[in-house]
Amino acid sequence: MPSVDVAGEFETIRKLFAPLAHPEWGRGLKDDVAALPTRPGHDLVLTKDAIVEGVHFLPTDPLDTVAQKLLRTNLSDLAAKGAEPFGYLLACFWSERCGWPEREAFVAGLKADQKAFGVSLLGGDTVVTSGPASFSLTALGWAPKGVVIGRNGARVGDLVFVTGAIGDGWLGLQAAQGRLGLDPERLMALADHYRAPMPRVEFAPTIRELASASIDVSDGLIADLGHIAEASGVGIEIDLALTPLSAAANAWFEDRVDPVAALEKLVTGGDDYEIAFTAAAKDEEALRREAERRLLRLTRIGRVVAGKGVKARFANENVKFDKAGFTHR
Ligand code: ADP
Ligand code: MG
Repeated sequence: MPSVDVAGEFETIRKLFAPLAHPEWGRGLKDDVAALPTRPGHDLVLTKDAIVEGVHFLPTDPLDTVAQKLLRTNLSDLAAKGAEPFGYLLACFWSERCGWPEREAFVAGLKADQKAFGVSLLGGDTVVTSGPASFSLTALGWAPKGVVIGRNGARVGDLVFVTGAIGDGWLGLQAAQGRLGLDPERLMALADHYRAPMPRVEFAPTIRELASASIDVSDGLIADLGHIAEASGVGIEIDLALTPLSAAANAWFEDRVDPVAALEKLVTGGDDYEIAFTAAAKDEEALRREAERRLLRLTRIGRVVAGKGVKARFANENVKFDKAGFTHR
């Protein structure tokens, strides 16, 4: 039976969460609601994610990065839509392992990210559960009216791009579980990426200006491009040889005997939190300029064609995958 630990709940809110509250709209977390003014000329853009111990994070993961991963996965969704974040609502379902020090760690992770990404806490709920620790977060952002970039705007002839590197999410999970044999620094870099991915918040203005369709890579590159293809009523062709890899992923990749099997892991694994998007060919140069200005890697990996689904090629061979990405049953 889930129970609510009332004393712990109020102390948690007052001592830990209230200092993170939005200075005006959060009402110091002393009221029943948050109240925010509308912003003329803008749409309010909202997204929500839930994470559960044993499913989205490991029972051994420190709670500061659990909080950061939760916040960042939501910020990643907003960025892919071209929206800029300002606040969030948070529900905590603390488990037995979440004592005061763990709650402090959770809040320390949020505090660091509030500063890094310019967001603040608007409200939430706090309960205790006998099940696995779980958290849910709703992120709020603004986008100029009517410009939120959907999955459905890809047009035949558009090019397909991805920010950053692909595969560190999957490799990071392997690293965090001690299943990879690589240099310790590489393992650390990968596990860090898995625990606290870097959402491409700074690219949101470029996405809303230049992308025709966009999505963040959470399920797996192939699966997420599949969502764009389906929503847009088009096909997508990508060249796996162009998949951008981090230095650590490259070190792992170089030791594989079967490059296609290795790439399959990286492009179907998910948890990358990069932005995969389509854009008109005429905008490629402007996109590259904007990415460079932000020191952000940007790679053209394919193009939009008539048809449906995602077709991947490697060295002029068609590649078929067992699964496009991770799905919950
Ligand atoms: P209710 O009785 O409606 O559930 P609570 O006592 O849970 O209200 O919440 C009191 C205040 O604390 C509200 O402003 C709520 O938004 C805030 N709050 C509760 N839990 C959290 C949390 N995990 N994060 C942020 N704010 C929270
Ligand atoms: Mg409550």
